[in-house]
Amino acid sequence: MKCYVCDKKIRKSKAYLGDEGTPLEGKSLCEDCYSEDEPCATVIYSKEDTPYIISGARNETEGDFRVRWHSTDPWRGYYEASSQKYSLVNTAELLAYHESEKMLKNFDDKIRELFDEHEIEYARVFARSSNVFYQNYDLYVRKDQVLLAGLLATKVKREVDYDNPKWYRNIVFDETALQKLIELFPEKGIKTDYDAAKLVEELGDNALDELQRRLKENRGASNK
Ligand SMILES: [Zn+2]
Repeated sequence: MKCYVCDKKIRKSKAYLGDEGTPLEGKSLCEDCYSEDEPCATVIYSKEDTPYIISGARNETEGDFRVRWHSTDPWRGYYEASSQKYSLVNTAELLAYHESEKMLKNFDDKIRELFDEHEIEYARVFARSSNVFYQNYDLYVRKDQVLLAGLLATKVKREVDYDNPKWYRNIVFDETALQKLIELFPEKGIKTDYDAAKLVEELGDNALDELQRRLKENRGASNK
């Protein structure tokens, strides 16, 4: 048989299979092509320093994260990460030498400090694109912590002026968090994540207290 990437002849017993969640998942590869180290994405968990690489064929996150190539035209595109185990809280576009760099660094420092304080398990995923000056920074948290994490992210964004239109930006409340907010604040008539963001804005610094109060009430009500 032949290596899927370089066409080199390989014995079936010597073939490597691309790891789950990689662009070459399940493909038969020679040892060299399997070990190719260029990362499609790099994952860093919470306070750890060790980067976990997802290359074309190897997935060091053991399936926590998957990566696929998203092409925007025949020559350009970017790697897109996804996860079953973690929820996406924020996506930022990192542009080298761009004026948003400092603001995003500030956001990163503050949000990690808050996540640590509230014992939220998070993962930062840096995915490559065909443009060497551009990469994607996705912030994920453990699925059951997404609501609190989303609120904390909103709070930090306000502090670092994240939503100023002069920066490139993206607000995300995922489906689960949005549904929960709709349930907890029935009188607000929340329909979209824009409404949700507006509500959090409205509550200001009381957002956390108010949310925790309603979560408790909600739990109490369902126990009756
Ligand atoms: Zn090969």
